[in-house]
Amino acid sequence: TARALASRAGGDEVRRLDAVVVGAGFSGLYALHRLRELGLRVRVLEAADRVGGTWLFNRYPGARCDIESIEYSYSFSTELQQEWTWSELLPGQAEIEAYLNFAADRLDLRRDIQFDTRVAAMTFDEADQTWLVTTEAGERFVAPFVVAATGILSAPLDPGIPGLATFRGTTLYSNRFPREGHDFTGQRVAVIGTGSTGVQAIPVVAEQAEHLYVYQRSAAYTLPSPARRYEPGEFEELRSRYDEIRAAQLLAHVGAARTSAFSVLTNLGGLPALRTASREAQLRAVEEKGVVGALYWSDVMFDPEAIRMATALYGEAVARIVRDPETAASLVPTYPFGCKRPIIDQGYYETFNRPNVTLVDLRKDAIQEITPTGIRTERAHHELDAILFATGFDALTGALTRIDVRGRGGALLRDVWATEGPVAYLGLQVSDFPNLFLVQGPGSPSAASNFLAAMEHHIEWITDCVAHLRAGGHRTIEALPSAQAEWIDEILALVNGSVLMHPDCNSWYNGANVPGKKRMYTTYVAGLPSFRQRCDEIAAAGYTGFKIG
Ligand code: FAD
Repeated sequence: TARALASRAGGDEVRRLDAVVVGAGFSGLYALHRLRELGLRVRVLEAADRVGGTWLFNRYPGARCDIESIEYSYSFSTELQQEWTWSELLPGQAEIEAYLNFAADRLDLRRDIQFDTRVAAMTFDEADQTWLVTTEAGERFVAPFVVAATGILSAPLDPGIPGLATFRGTTLYSNRFPREGHDFTGQRVAVIGTGSTGVQAIPVVAEQAEHLYVYQRSAAYTLPSPARRYEPGEFEELRSRYDEIRAAQLLAHVGAARTSAFSVLTNLGGLPALRTASREAQLRAVEEKGVVGALYWSDVMFDPEAIRMATALYGEAVARIVRDPETAASLVPTYPFGCKRPIIDQGYYETFNRPNVTLVDLRKDAIQEITPTGIRTERAHHELDAILFATGFDALTGALTRIDVRGRGGALLRDVWATEGPVAYLGLQVSDFPNLFLVQGPGSPSAASNFLAAMEHHIEWITDCVAHLRAGGHRTIEALPSAQAEWIDEILALVNGSVLMHPDCNSWYNGANVPGKKRMYTTYVAGLPSFRQRCDEIAAAGYTGFKIG
């Protein structure tokens, strides 16, 4: 309509709503569904042209989930569970994207989602006690509540390599990979980055490329992936027991799948200690279980000597697979095992035995510049047709610091997090930012959980809170600074002395992957069940640590 067009063009019209949700990935879709169930007028604003979030953008070759499909899917709706059929144990990107489209249709969500709409600013109006949400195109929305479902791994990092703009070949980014895909056949290709994405993409690209150069800044611990298609009837049998499976999942320590890579880190209890194991037992473990055998010991998370021994043993396990000794040595991580979620791999180390794959260890041979025809390191120039950047994200906070979020007294969220570090209470709210709810914000279980189980909890807690406020005639809720500070202290106390605080533990979990970002570990590692319990107790006691106005 003319009015809508005027508004799109930055006209004066302001749309009043009960809630704005930013983002249409797993979180935003569920937030919309729940808020609508409460009878609220809701609009989802999404920068992309369709639903999917993570699983829309990260369509690089080999993109796959590390959690079983039956657990990396919505649990709140029997219809969704019963009407969808997963074909693989660990679902690939395309299947998850299709699932999210199915969920959006089945729950009739699209009519309240506005695509191609990037939120540029969100300002809290203290007099009106509402948020003014402004889009890049100048549209304005006013609502008392905002749910920032903007994603913890959605703000791409600029690779920051000199000369990038001069490259005449094809430049690709794993986190915004072309919809139509890319055929690497016959090409000389570089993959830059060996985090979760690089490790997934490298074996697939190697099969297509004429030659693949892998540029590695930091080697990774990987676990062989159990990915496979479901056997005929297998999924149907699981689906018939969904309730039982979900109930068990809720009780599991990290709320993660039995095969989830991260559960490895927290379920080591019953295993023997590496420190006291005989050399024979160590070698047998490596022989029988490969690289995993180097890591499955009860003491590899806390005992510094065991940590050192595990890294050495891992090196031996890698050297059994990778034939070239120099390459094998370069593939051994220098940080302690357990400081990051281990990566699932499908033939990663074997890939380095291929004659068309070269590992470039940037610790020994740093990149100097990208040239019009390739990449120049200190020692060589590699001629290239394509460069695939798998260089990661400004995680946890990046999506929100890219928006001008202004709370009480004009406080700018970006500045708060730059000076204080990524603080939040329960990962759900930041003090001075009333009625702004985060999903998996700093201080929530985030990377230490099955994302979906945690996300469903957060959305349910947030929407219950909104219902509580409205029922009581309240207008605002905001985290008290003291509660926020105590929560951060509690989180840090949980990881104090652990491998997660090791000085060599540089990762997106603590901001070390972003130049200039304040380093701080803000993931709640005591598990989703205990987090849920805390949040439930807080709500039941009248929202302890929050001020309701
Ligand atoms: P996202 O899916 O990131 O969606 C956020 C949405 O917000 C996006 O669509 C984005 O466009 C939109 N948005 C952001 N800013 C704005 C703005 N200013 N204006 C408008 N829209 C905006 N988790 C696991 O548990 N297991 C896994 O195996 C796993 N694998 C992953 C693999 C990759 C490559 C990545 C990147 C993440 C992975 N994750 C995994 C984490 C994953 O991000 C979450 O599991 C989940 O998909 C996040 O859903 P979300 O809706 O919260 O955020």
